[in-house]
Amino acid sequence: MEFIDLKAQYAKLKPEMDAAIQAVLNKSNYISGEEVELLEKELAEYVGAKYCVTCANGTDALVLALKTMDIGEGDAVFVPNYTFFATPESVSLVGAVPVFVDIDENTFNIDPVKLDAAIKNIQRENKLKPKAIIPVDLFGLLYDVTAIAKIARDNNLLILEDGAQGFGGEYNRKKACSFGDISITSFFPAKPLGCYGDGGAIFTNSGEYYKTLLSLRVHGKGKDKYDNIRIGTNSRLDTIQAAVLQVKLKAFKDYELTKRHEVAALYDKYLSGKVKIPTIPKNYTSSYAQYTVTFKDEKTRNKVEQTLKSNGIPTIIYYHKTMHQQTAYQASPCKFYDVSVSESLTKKVLCLPMHPYLDEATIKKICETVMKGMGA
Ligand SMILES: *Cc1c(COP(=O)(O)O)cnc(C)c1O
Repeated sequence: MEFIDLKAQYAKLKPEMDAAIQAVLNKSNYISGEEVELLEKELAEYVGAKYCVTCANGTDALVLALKTMDIGEGDAVFVPNYTFFATPESVSLVGAVPVFVDIDENTFNIDPVKLDAAIKNIQRENKLKPKAIIPVDLFGLLYDVTAIAKIARDNNLLILEDGAQGFGGEYNRKKACSFGDISITSFFPAKPLGCYGDGGAIFTNSGEYYKTLLSLRVHGKGKDKYDNIRIGTNSRLDTIQAAVLQVKLKAFKDYELTKRHEVAALYDKYLSGKVKIPTIPKNYTSSYAQYTVTFKDEKTRNKVEQTLKSNGIPTIIYYHKTMHQQTAYQASPCKFYDVSVSESLTKKVLCLPMHPYLDEATIKKICETVMKGMGA
């Protein structure tokens, strides 16, 4: 059994996928081929953003976004303490200081009350300038959009939505990756929409930001790549990856996202009342980047993990460590206050196999094995 079955996906898409890749080979336009611009149009339309700029990966997308927002030395950027390392890493890379904020124990997303308290603390200490919040759509679920938008407005902070796991999720029928002043996603193969290597995208409604992003992506270009008006970088999406994503986006829209919801509903059916299943608040839909269950304690979690493993069922713990526990942040500047919820969740969570090609018999077997591991 696979945790994420990319082989089953390729088997289904093979004729279309092989033709799309072959078409790029025939044209041999490997950088900035027409597929890239077409994909950007399709992505912007799907997400409901005015502009899309693809780039080399999700981490670059975050860095390019922060640079575009002119965030750097002396600035504080608020990020959840429970996320993939790239979220705070991007902040440190531009020279700003990440402030790790605790998460809500039900949604796994940044806790608005603790965020507000952290902003007040940074203001009181008066050493760093609060500039932005990077709320993350963890496990496919959008963050508390209304509460975070209000906090941002009240404190004059920008929002950079980290939708690396959120692509395809919704709040009030509006798509993830459209809620930030700038929003980003990642096309790492294991994300809800993945390519065949690394890839990322940036979304915005601001024409000014869009122009800056296009420039930063190609060495700070002005009228062309040999006219350089700012220090940028090289962070383009390969033409082949754009072609792959065009095929995958179509499958994602046509049936994969629906299948993800069906798989999650079956997990819910078999596990509800037995373990804590994902909480999806009213008016939200998740794209289920992960299906994460929470056990009552570490001992139970570890026993279930072992039982699944010995039955050939792969699981992953997202995440073993919070950001404030990472070795890198023992040396690199950061701030945090009460982070007790995120600390405790690292000991209790387990992510089960999640992809659109799981059938009911397999899901049932996984759930029965989870229960066996709990001694139920
Ligand atoms: C995967 C991920 C990223 C980074 O994306 P890459 O494409 O791997 O660089 C950033 N933030 C979160 C929350 C992620 O899960």
